Amino acid sequence: MYSMPLYRPPSEARSLIIQITEGCSHNKCRFCYMYKCKQFRLKSDDEIKEHINELKAYYKNPDRIFLADGNVLCLKTDKLVSLLNYIKTEFPSAQRISSYSGPLDLIRKTDEELKLIREHGLEFLYLGVESGSDKVLSMMEKGVNQREMIEAGQKAVKAGFKLSCMIISGLGGEGLMEEHAVESAKVISAINPHYFSLLRLVVEEESELADDVRQGKFKLLNPIRILDENILMLENMELTDCIFRANHVSNYLNQAGVLNKDKDMLVERLKKFRESNDFIPMGNDRL
Ligand code: SF4
Repeated sequence: MYSMPLYRPPSEARSLIIQITEGCSHNKCRFCYMYKCKQFRLKSDDEIKEHINELKAYYKNPDRIFLADGNVLCLKTDKLVSLLNYIKTEFPSAQRISSYSGPLDLIRKTDEELKLIREHGLEFLYLGVESGSDKVLSMMEKGVNQREMIEAGQKAVKAGFKLSCMIISGLGGEGLMEEHAVESAKVISAINPHYFSLLRLVVEEESELADDVRQGKFKLLNPIRILDENILMLENMELTDCIFRANHVSNYLNQAGVLNKDKDMLVERLKKFRESNDFIPMGNDRL
């Protein structure tokens, strides 16, 4: 039914996943292992319709739908719009349709195209910003720079999507820790998304970054330095009514709040936690 592996954000755990594409058309980020084993491809209309028919046998009335894999917005706008119409007809119970969004796909589409896609039912986008630093984005081969990442996020918000942005804590390593913290805060503040999630870097064997770590080219942050970076990043955020979550299994301290309203409280909690030494380094650092 699905081409594996299949990924979705934690908040889509209860969503019906419809696989519109396979893999990621970029597939070059050094820290990412998700689709390394998959050749990117667009599915044909017939394949997607057959896939939806199979899913209908198991999922009668889904509330939420998540479109996979990596970057569904790379589809031509008219194809995506007609697919969204088809999905809404087949699953009229769905209240929300979401997907990952690649920054280059957002940039390539015009404001009018994005609005059209939004109006036809794609409501919620997840944007992996990863870092706001040009140096880190280039080192990790994200394929866009800071200016382009801001443009992509701002276009999504302007078109009316609910936007969730992710930053990976530790992605600058020791060498670019402060730059990663400050520049990431700058990019998230410029986008001002509806949601901002902070995850921590976990280096998987399948990623190119694993080789960089083994060869000493990339020095991982220790837990104290991760907390220092988190504090610096939050201190530099300037957001309005942005729901903040750091509640992924990789985070040392579970945090939730609204930025900037809760900024001081969140920073204070991190500082106390750091000073307490009341934490055990997680066992999920693959390297
Ligand atoms: S992080 Fe996103 S854009 Fe980069 S390779 Fe992985 S899925 Fe593709």
